Amino acid sequence: MTENTSSTPLIDSATEPFMFPKLTAEQIERIAAHGVLRSITRGEVLIESGHYDVPFFIVKAGEIEVIRPSALDNLRIAIVRKDQFTGDISMILGRPALMRLRVSVSGEVVELTRNQMHALIQADAELSEVLMTAFISRRIELVTRGIGDVLLIGSAQSTATFRIKVFLTRNGHPFKYLNIDRDADVQDLLARFGVDSGELPVLICRGGAVLKNPTHQEIAECLGFNERIDHAQQRDVAIVGAGPAGLASAVYAASEGLDALVIESSSPGGQAGSSSKIENYLGFPTGISGGELAERAYAQAQKFGASVMIAKGAVGLTCEPECHGVRLSDGATISARTVIIATGARYRKPPLANLAEFEGAGVYYNATFMEEAQLGDGDEVIVVGGANSAGQAAVFLARAGRRVHVLVRSDSLSVSMSQYLIRRIEETPTIQVRTRTEIAALEGNGHLERVLWRDSTGAVTSHNVRHVFLMTGAEASTTWLNGHITLDSKGFIKTGPDLTPDDLAAAQWPLDRSPYLLETSRPGVFAVGDVRCGNVKRVASAVGEGSIAISFVHRVLAEQAAVSPGSPSRLMSQNRG
Ligand SMILES: Cc1cc2nc3c(=O)[nH]c(=O)nc-3n(C[C@H](O)[C@H](O)[C@H](O)COP(=O)(O)OP(=O)(O)OC[C@H]3O[C@@H](n4cnc5c(N)ncnc54)[C@H](O)[C@@H]3O)c2cc1C
Repeated sequence: MTENTSSTPLIDSATEPFMFPKLTAEQIERIAAHGVLRSITRGEVLIESGHYDVPFFIVKAGEIEVIRPSALDNLRIAIVRKDQFTGDISMILGRPALMRLRVSVSGEVVELTRNQMHALIQADAELSEVLMTAFISRRIELVTRGIGDVLLIGSAQSTATFRIKVFLTRNGHPFKYLNIDRDADVQDLLARFGVDSGELPVLICRGGAVLKNPTHQEIAECLGFNERIDHAQQRDVAIVGAGPAGLASAVYAASEGLDALVIESSSPGGQAGSSSKIENYLGFPTGISGGELAERAYAQAQKFGASVMIAKGAVGLTCEPECHGVRLSDGATISARTVIIATGARYRKPPLANLAEFEGAGVYYNATFMEEAQLGDGDEVIVVGGANSAGQAAVFLARAGRRVHVLVRSDSLSVSMSQYLIRRIEETPTIQVRTRTEIAALEGNGHLERVLWRDSTGAVTSHNVRHVFLMTGAEASTTWLNGHITLDSKGFIKTGPDLTPDDLAAAQWPLDRSPYLLETSRPGVFAVGDVRCGNVKRVASAVGEGSIAISFVHRVLAEQAAVSPGSPSRLMSQNRG
């Protein structure tokens, strides 16, 4: 192993005011009131990578070096100097430390435990801004440079490699990627880890564990994403889905003192996380990428103390008869006093026989920088769909003069797309809208090579297009509810005033009061965002509903406490009786 720790650090902490700000004497004094003052000695390891619940330090004198240890080399990342502080977003997310921190010049530090630092961030708005900005900036830098505890080796042509890249990126986890088709020395590395090239993609995780074509759950386990989450604890609210609606519920619940757990089957951000730029969300006049919005919301929820379980899907509600448990894909059940369903919607897949063969290898359901990186210079693309997501994708992909065919089944875009996007499309000469046109077949060998489309005259023509972006409407993610909750005819969840007396009678609604706004046919179970019948499929409305639901959660908790003080729920006590 190369010990490259005497070299110049990769990041010069003296010139990076966002990543390594200097605290004022008054700020240090405020923080010191919560921790202890202690001396540090050259060579002392203050934090070891892979450890959980690591402390937080402010350097008063001396220096601390930040090292990324790995099976291949030890990289010197930065030096934390006088008045600067250690830490990274992992501390907020409850994940293991990515870096080793070692004293390079003896001196003195203020030390806080993770819990003390967390409490400080929640209580002190000014310090929260300085610390959170630094933690997020540091993480962005590591992700951009691919410096972390994960090495991914695979082929750029492989669907599985693409899937893993998207999962790590959406979870904000830095990784280094080696392309088997291009990078030198990959074969030596594979031999070193005992991997056959037929077993790719492979993930070398946290310096040693070799995961061959891992599932998301295996990656989450290896990286310790869920390690600190207590499955046995009964929660005030279990929130299923970490899209904008679920994350908004988590932020409001946790910031109002509720014990909230979010259960997410994939990565935080939901559909919004896959948007290249959201331009109509209040407060972002120049737009914000869905990935950035998701990352910020995810950190914000955890800052207030919500727990977020990654890569664990909910597979059912346990209703005996009231629904106070969420069954997970790994067989565990989370017990909660109230439940918020925020499982959103996912793209409908057109009935094309060999669609699955090309998913991630020419067929995509999102259009972000991740997907764009799969495209070659000058590649033509097809976008299928007539809603805003298709319009955004077309405009995004047409940057740099790329030719984009937009295929829509209807007669025009105006039926389902915002005017500002239609105007942008009309003003972009390289975008061609083909109305009353649909894909008839996909052809290729391992990667999409040709698309056959049927136009308004019924004629089928073949086109050498290697990339298709499918944005063809969404269906609610409600099959996992197994009939426990009343749905509308299209599978979306009915709530509040949408529930008719017949619906309530069929569901055996047990209370004297009617369901609250956003409450489903089961007391204490709410539905918010795109999964709800009548939703308007917008980030702002999903966020709004997610936050409003928390005020009704408070009411239900108060009802439960009033009827049965000392017991979490009147309904549970009724069952016992
Ligand atoms: C490409 C694209 C661009 C868009 N652009 C805009 C825009 O510019 N402006 C705008 O306002 N809106 C836009 N939208 C719409 C917006 O993103 C959605 O309305 C919004 O994301 C809905 O949020 P949600 O939280 O209700 O659901 P979702 O975002 O769908 O999130 C649901 C989450 O639940 C998870 N989940 C599903 N089932 C389970 C389960 N069983 N267990 C655990 N977790 C589960 C999913 O993995 C997902 O993370 C866009 C959508 C797309 C796809």
